[in-house]
Amino acid sequence: MSKSRYKKTAIRLKRRSSRVPRVDTPALDHVLLVVNDLVYKPERFDQARKEIRETFDRIVRYCDNIEDALDGIGHWPDREVELKKHSDRVGRALELARNMPDLFAPVTQRSFDVRVKLSHDPESQKELLDRQPVKHRVVSSNTEGTEIHFKEIRQPTETTPYIDDLFRVGDPFFYPTGDVQVQVYWELFQGIRQLNDLRKLRRCSNLYYHTEPFYFLRKKVERQERSFCSDDCRKHYHNNKEKGE
Ligand SMILES: [Zn+2]
Repeated sequence: MSKSRYKKTAIRLKRRSSRVPRVDTPALDHVLLVVNDLVYKPERFDQARKEIRETFDRIVRYCDNIEDALDGIGHWPDREVELKKHSDRVGRALELARNMPDLFAPVTQRSFDVRVKLSHDPESQKELLDRQPVKHRVVSSNTEGTEIHFKEIRQPTETTPYIDDLFRVGDPFFYPTGDVQVQVYWELFQGIRQLNDLRKLRRCSNLYYHTEPFYFLRKKVERQERSFCSDDCRKHYHNNKEKGE
């Protein structure tokens, strides 16, 4: 993010909270492992890693530029302009937002060979597993044998399914065919959809520690001059910065 050289005014766009609810992003988590070289035989992903790092950099820049525009700094390739009026700030932010699809060119320009898998409705399958028969067992009786108490014991045993479950198809599962790099582009496509706020994606600012770009997802999206992948990384950065000064 650029350090604002301009005095910030009270003009603000309506914002939601800086706390974005946590969502699971399993596909993106794996893409991050690939991009950060934390997978088995990372050289298999060289091309994808390069393209996805560029994509991630574009996303981070996009977010920063929109936030800057709303704060009153308009970035253009050849100039930087102070945006005083609220309408100018919003206008510039919306102009940038129109180009959002371009951020994902490595995925959107790609064609995938996709297979589709159909199976039973997973809900009815789950129900089948949950529905275990109840067996009654006598736990006590009085001496005359007239009063009998039962205890319910659930035991997993084979059971007859609801007949209609056999005739219901679940949501299709799509997956691409191809090598590991194709899989990772596919995961990027899925993962970006799982992410509920692009500003969560950051590149760690500790260049003393990470010799290669290191990307991570942060929990809060509030603006900071630098972002760090962990508290230790932040400390490490400041220690080294002091040594360097
Ligand atoms: Zn770090």
